[in-house]
Amino acid sequence: MALIDPHLYIYLSRKGFAEPREKSGVNTAVGTLETELIKSWVDKCSKKHDCADVQSSMREEVYAGFYVIDAKRRVLVKPPVDAAYVALSYVWGKRAAETNPQPFGNLDDLPQTVEDALQLTLALGLQYVWTDAQCINQADEEHKQAQIENMDWIYENAFLTIGAATTASAYAGIPGVSKPLLNMQQPLVKVPEGTIRATFYRDPVTGASTWPWRTRGWTFQEEALSQRLLLITDHNYFFRCREDVYTDVTHAAKTHFPDKLRYSDLFSDQSWKFSHYADIVPQYTCRRLSYDQDILNALHGMFTRVSLRTKVEFWSAIPVRNMAFALCWAKVSDEDSLGRLERREGFPSWSWCGWKGQVTYAKTLRDHRIEEWEPELGPEAEVTPFKDKGIREFIAIRSTWTALPTNNCSNDGPGNPKFISFDVNRLENDNIRLVQLVRHALKEKESEAVLLVVGSVEDRWQRIGIAAETFSSWISRCPEPCEIVVE
Ligand SMILES: [Zn+2]
Repeated sequence: MALIDPHLYIYLSRKGFAEPREKSGVNTAVGTLETELIKSWVDKCSKKHDCADVQSSMREEVYAGFYVIDAKRRVLVKPPVDAAYVALSYVWGKRAAETNPQPFGNLDDLPQTVEDALQLTLALGLQYVWTDAQCINQADEEHKQAQIENMDWIYENAFLTIGAATTASAYAGIPGVSKPLLNMQQPLVKVPEGTIRATFYRDPVTGASTWPWRTRGWTFQEEALSQRLLLITDHNYFFRCREDVYTDVTHAAKTHFPDKLRYSDLFSDQSWKFSHYADIVPQYTCRRLSYDQDILNALHGMFTRVSLRTKVEFWSAIPVRNMAFALCWAKVSDEDSLGRLERREGFPSWSWCGWKGQVTYAKTLRDHRIEEWEPELGPEAEVTPFKDKGIREFIAIRSTWTALPTNNCSNDGPGNPKFISFDVNRLENDNIRLVQLVRHALKEKESEAVLLVVGSVEDRWQRIGIAAETFSSWISRCPEPCEIVVE
């Protein structure tokens, strides 16, 4: 296997390499999904793996509002409790997002992508399909909210999820079903040993960030929660379960593919790891949502799943365990950012869900074994909730550092901040405080602290950004602990 760019691979049929499959329809721009091949992958998984061993049984409240499309009879039904169903994961697109939904239960004139999912389900010998637009009563807020809260169950319990990876909208259809898979080059190459066939493919995990499906917020948890996922692109298709990855491109299974998606670690692990959380936040926050207010809804299923497994609660997307660390998110640096963060109304400023744009965690926070840091937090960064509801409006942080550096943060002051992710001009405003969130020793007598920078809004404070500081004589600089209430 030769690496052409980090995400584009070439397979050659030589001993020691994966054998490319000679594809029918290749180089002719005509191709359909080979359903027998897909069935063989699914069969292998269901007979030989434990991939679909979901620990959660159906929650009663889920079943109460759970409907699927019976693809044979083309009606909406309540399926038998243990029925195998296919879940569709796709991009709605502007038109679908703006069109008034059809009355619940009306399956006339289904958008092409949904129609194709039905046809593919039947071709795979299955009968039931779950699609969000049809199986959630879009006109009934109560039903809608209940189903959103059950997304973890819906995708994790699906027998198979079809991911329409390069399909840009509900009306575009799925390649290989209602429209052909596109031309895929398989050149014959002469080498000393003879002639070999080459097949190109883009790796479905790291090389596919531009697929429409990978740019949208909702599909993030749909991919992560699915036990078995059939990803269909314009040129080829992949099947991945918890143990293997197969593709129509070669005869080989997982050994020649990048391994499982990293965020699946979040689910397989019973114990909470902040580093897993820190990994998924930048992957999610760079995605787009048709409705800004969906920022928590589109991740709700994932958090529910993690909470059930690890017993860690989330307040406005921030985990309560390691909360001081989790508050240290920062805008992705300018070189590769989506621009300045913009406020998302209705969500607290201390959580990344209160801002639009990609955020991440500093490498030092992600890489360290932060459990070792925890005792150092002590009461200095104690965080308590004020309201018991889904969106926490504010939190109180007890901190030993509430003073403003004497000058500007960018020069003297009490140590030179290593990074400041807020507008430095605003520091001229007196109404700014620094709150110590994380502190750790660097070397002898030297410490580093990550500080939350807040600006006053009436009797509360709002997050402006975070700053890091290195200093050598911490103790002498500690004023009395002071409580800051951040909105
Ligand atoms: Zn499997």
